[in-house]
Amino acid sequence: MSSNAAIEATSAPVINREAVRASFDAQVARAGATRGDGAKTRLQRLERLEAAILSSVDALHDACAADFRKPKTEIELSEIAPVIGELRFARKNLKRWMKPRRVRPTLMMLGNRGEIRYEPKGVALVISPWNYAFNLSMGPLVSAVAAGNSVMLKPSEFTPNVAEYISGLVGSVFDDSEVAVIEGGIEASQVLLDLPFDHVFFTGSPQVGRIVAAAASRHLASITLELGGKSPTIIDRTADVTKAARRIAWGKFINNGQTCIAPDHAYVDDAVFGDFVSEFQKCIDEFYGQSIDARASSRHYCRIVNRKHFQRLSSLVDEAVNAGARRLTLDRRDEDELFMAPTLLENIPRDCGLMQEEIFGPVLPLIRFTDLADVVTDVNTRPKPLALYIYSKNRETTARLLREIPSGDAVVNHNLIHFLHKRLPFGGIGNSGIGKSHGYHGFLAFSHERSVVTNHVGLVDRLFPPYAPAVERMALWARRFFA
Ligand code: NAD
Repeated sequence: MSSNAAIEATSAPVINREAVRASFDAQVARAGATRGDGAKTRLQRLERLEAAILSSVDALHDACAADFRKPKTEIELSEIAPVIGELRFARKNLKRWMKPRRVRPTLMMLGNRGEIRYEPKGVALVISPWNYAFNLSMGPLVSAVAAGNSVMLKPSEFTPNVAEYISGLVGSVFDDSEVAVIEGGIEASQVLLDLPFDHVFFTGSPQVGRIVAAAASRHLASITLELGGKSPTIIDRTADVTKAARRIAWGKFINNGQTCIAPDHAYVDDAVFGDFVSEFQKCIDEFYGQSIDARASSRHYCRIVNRKHFQRLSSLVDEAVNAGARRLTLDRRDEDELFMAPTLLENIPRDCGLMQEEIFGPVLPLIRFTDLADVVTDVNTRPKPLALYIYSKNRETTARLLREIPSGDAVVNHNLIHFLHKRLPFGGIGNSGIGKSHGYHGFLAFSHERSVVTNHVGLVDRLFPPYAPAVERMALWARRFFA
């Protein structure tokens, strides 16, 4: 598909309900048979997947570029490297993750051997978004396969080229009864969500997350929801403003701001506001060119995914400017090209859409502050964010902000990089998500932690009826000693 055709694409593939059901039934049958698959089989699956990705990297580059002109380096850094990293990390650690974990008995449980076994949940559904269409489909897939599940995967309809690539890739590695890709839009999601999956892993907006959670609850499927929201950035007066500006410009404009953990808006201490703005403007010049023509033709600058999102963003900017916001960067918006120049705004009234909804585009609103307490109050009156970014050299300020503002994850003096830390759980809290992903935590999301107790000595047997005085005394001691 050509890049323009991809950009215009609005009609999702027609969904064949019966074929989806047959695929699901085949997975359920297989899940029963493969419950006991050991590490060796799972490792072979992961190895085959890695080899298939590495041998089709050019096709993946073409697909990502066709969908919304993602720069080559951003494809490598934000799509391919994290998935290969996830695969290698899982392959390296899988045997250890799968090993049953012995636990010491509590006093009441003396004479019993207790262990936690990590078993596959069964058949999992993965629904992914368009913004990192490959990464956010394959990351959960790696975790699900590592944990021994069968998977039905629905990529986003807004990135049809990557969806087609994923379908071919998965088809070349897995039997349909192991992993099946269902291409389609909302209707495909709805058909899938009617099925009684054992686990649903959804990445997307909080609005759709609610629909997915409600659907999963009909079958009492467990869920992981990786959602979005407005991740705030706070720059205090002690921050290294030059570094902060560079890092925020990178974090904001990579993927054209269409990143769940992008710095959504920034609170800047009045004492460093002017310096921050001029450093940020310098970064835009350096990254994408000084003139607006250079920026519009920069090969380092991605595009907005489709007209619908372009129009949404453009009207948010218009609304803010009409309400008195001050533009601090050059303006150009070209709907045919899906180009919106990197945009910095200040003085946006709080009731404007830009200050209310997740921006998800190349626009950074700045909010001046003099008292940190106002920032804490403002952030905490909104839903809990996916990420919190703090730029400060003052340890007390940093500790205070971490303590007073809850968020899914947090980074001090940088942004986005926590996504790449395979040893840390990644995920939101409240409106920004439920559950965690990445590495061991991703493996856990798709595993059932099954407690197995093997009895050797029957201490509890001494508490059986009839309740003689000695048993009654022991029952009273139980409260004191066995809690
Ligand atoms: P979206 O919620 O619109 O769509 C996500 C998926 O859900 C797509 O596959 C889509 O086909 C499906 N879907 C859409 N409407 C549906 C409905 N009514 N019923 C069932 N399924 C439906 O999200 P998007 O626009 O693809 O992605 C952007 C959002 O995702 C942003 O909010 C962003 O912050 C969030 N996001 C979160 C993470 C994370 O890891 N936390 C990562 C990337 C994106």
